[in-house]
Amino acid sequence: MKIRYFDHSATTPVDRRVLEKMLPYFSENFGNPSAIYSLGKLNKEIININRTKIARMLNCKANEIYFTSCGSESDNLIIKGIAYANRSRGRHIITTSIEHPAVLNTCKTLEKNGFIVTYLRPRENGIIDINDVIRNIRRGTILISVMFANNEIGTIQPIEEIGKIAKKYHIYFHTDAVQAIGNVRIDVKKMNIDALSMSSHKFYGPKGVGVAYINEDVQFSRIQDGGHQENDKRAGTENVPGIVGTATALEIATNDIEQNNYYIKRLRDYFISQVKTKIPNIRINGDMIKRLPGNANISFYGIDGKGLVEELDKVGICVSSGSACSAGLINPSHVLLSIGVPNNLARSSLRVTLGKGNTIEDIDYLVENLEKIVQKKKS
Ligand SMILES: *Cc1c(COP(=O)(O)O)cnc(C)c1O
Repeated sequence: MKIRYFDHSATTPVDRRVLEKMLPYFSENFGNPSAIYSLGKLNKEIININRTKIARMLNCKANEIYFTSCGSESDNLIIKGIAYANRSRGRHIITTSIEHPAVLNTCKTLEKNGFIVTYLRPRENGIIDINDVIRNIRRGTILISVMFANNEIGTIQPIEEIGKIAKKYHIYFHTDAVQAIGNVRIDVKKMNIDALSMSSHKFYGPKGVGVAYINEDVQFSRIQDGGHQENDKRAGTENVPGIVGTATALEIATNDIEQNNYYIKRLRDYFISQVKTKIPNIRINGDMIKRLPGNANISFYGIDGKGLVEELDKVGICVSSGSACSAGLINPSHVLLSIGVPNNLARSSLRVTLGKGNTIEDIDYLVENLEKIVQKKKS
């Protein structure tokens, strides 16, 4: 059976061009970058060439780019690293209730260690009100962490405005940009972003590689002890093929951004209009304008979301009922609850996230099966 993949917010396939660039670094150019012979030194150079490429695309300096093992690690490094290094200045952090667990649970850990965290709730459209950010700043606020785009409902936050506020009040500003990279052009200088997380496997790069951008003026401490890699800020032998793959994937994503967005958004809008005409009693979650091009999050009144995902799987369709991290649990999505979706309706939701490999024909197949299954489940 042909697999039709509509879960690009969970992960993406590695682009062929990315894979090809990575291959030599597994078994030919395999030297340890810390070694002092040529086979190793070559790889140290390769890492720095790719670091510079990534820095150029974000408009920062190469020494502000740190390679990690995933988006979750980047979130941990930035938030804990800043919190612990600045605790003498203050212990208050502002974030949102709709962050990814990598941010939410990092903040929970900090709360157990003497920090105070404010979790801002977005409005019903899934967008944070910047006045809420301002209202919650107090003496001792050291960090604001607001995700660029949400992984479940796709809403895009007013990052540039929040950056301005953070700068004005001299508070560090971090954004988890894991979902935004490749969909939104990001200029960390223009947007006043002090720290940013990304993850390669969300933009057609390999799994197990993350990037943390941290402005050189930001005080932060390492959280992983060991060797002196990554300017002594993140120990561990570097994932050279992964780093090459990440820079290549980011280059492709950045070059193709407008073209991909145009294509994917048209597919998404076609999907939503088809669902609206063919399936009664649905609700679209999250703002329709300030939204990732490929995201559709839909609640189906009276239908169990998890059951729907399982039925679709039987016909070769991959979609998500929440974020991948919470899909195994039966708890309704914290994001949907945060924007005021009632508990039972949150359990009746489907997240469809489209990518550059999807076609109109895929969408027709998805809608046709969705319609059939919903009808069957209702009768
Ligand atoms: C996927 C994701 C992460 C985690 O990235 P990993 O590389 O899977 O650890 C963090 N934040 C957001 C918004 C994500 O979508």
